[in-house]
Amino acid sequence: MKMMKKKQAERPVKTERTKTALVTGGAGFIGSHLIDALLAEGATVVCLDNYLTGRPANLRHLESERRFDLVEADVIDRLPPKVRLGKTRFTHVYHLACAASPPHYQADPEHTMLTCVVGTRNMLRFAEEQGARFLLTSTSEVYGDPEMHPQPEGYRGWVNCTGPRACYDEGKRAAETLTFDFARQKRVDVRVARIFNTYGPRMRHDDGRVVSNVIWQALHGQNITVYGDGSQTRSFCYVSDMVEGLMRLMDAEPAPGAPINLGNPHELTVSDLVERVIALTGSASGIVHLPLPMDDPRRRRPDIGRAQTILGWEPRVGLQQGLEATAAWFAEEQRQAGAKPAARRPVAAQREAFTGVAAE
Ligand code: UDP
Repeated sequence: MKMMKKKQAERPVKTERTKTALVTGGAGFIGSHLIDALLAEGATVVCLDNYLTGRPANLRHLESERRFDLVEADVIDRLPPKVRLGKTRFTHVYHLACAASPPHYQADPEHTMLTCVVGTRNMLRFAEEQGARFLLTSTSEVYGDPEMHPQPEGYRGWVNCTGPRACYDEGKRAAETLTFDFARQKRVDVRVARIFNTYGPRMRHDDGRVVSNVIWQALHGQNITVYGDGSQTRSFCYVSDMVEGLMRLMDAEPAPGAPINLGNPHELTVSDLVERVIALTGSASGIVHLPLPMDDPRRRRPDIGRAQTILGWEPRVGLQQGLEATAAWFAEEQRQAGAKPAARRPVAAQREAFTGVAAE
């Protein structure tokens, strides 16, 4: 796919030691792209995933790749022995595992919280045992419904610790705490990325997030669901930019010693996004307004000053190009699925479960 890219300093390719990386949540949308990038760089990669939201299909193209292995396991459980590589030690642990879409992480909040806390503790201990560098993917959700705009890393957030998003928001905040405690105790060399809304190919059509919902609904001529009046804002980062940021953060030396926001500062309202997708797909879909979910942040936009200064990173893929690539990928998915709107019921059902209202 052809993309217009802004100029950015090249990331120096690491040659001093070969990476042997564990990627938890590697069958997921961002994780699978990260694995592709690590393999392209010459790394050996083991992916750990419980397929709660990740899909083996995201990694099927790596079936015959000798430097890649896939282990089905949950990070909250004891690691299966086959994750260990004999005498070979892991040099890097990228810890992405956790459902990240509100309907998915709210479906089993207890498991979400345990994944954030117990799962992160398990992976930190594994990194400690292996002597591996550790990267936690945290989230813009740690800022809650922010009073400060845009959100710099120093902003401590406005989170409802008893609300429906808390299993994830507070879980990730606790995961950050654990991660920096391990660093303070000099047990593990850590990095923490706060990921803002990210989109691109390999998102699940039933992921429940706005980009995948809107594109899928537009392609199927379904009513497009706007929660609330659509004036809430988000800032969407294309997945290749996110992966580049994660790799730069992992490779940064010395460790930044604080979280780093990764996201695209281009902010727009949900209604603007919907209009763009309708124009892009030429869809005849109508729009239906559903109630705004509880604690839904009114606006979100990353301050990426730290990432620019410390990592020499900023997003390069514009929203139009990214949406085109994503819509093309969903159209292909739809074509391969036999052109039938098979996802109609699951998308509607999860939406109903999330908002409590049937869309059509
Ligand atoms: N949203 C929407 N329609 C949808 C899905 C989401 O209007 O079909 C809204 C949602 O209420 C939120 C924004 O889009 O204000 C982004 O939601 P998403 O679930 O993608 O991610 P979040 O940033 O809330 O984690």
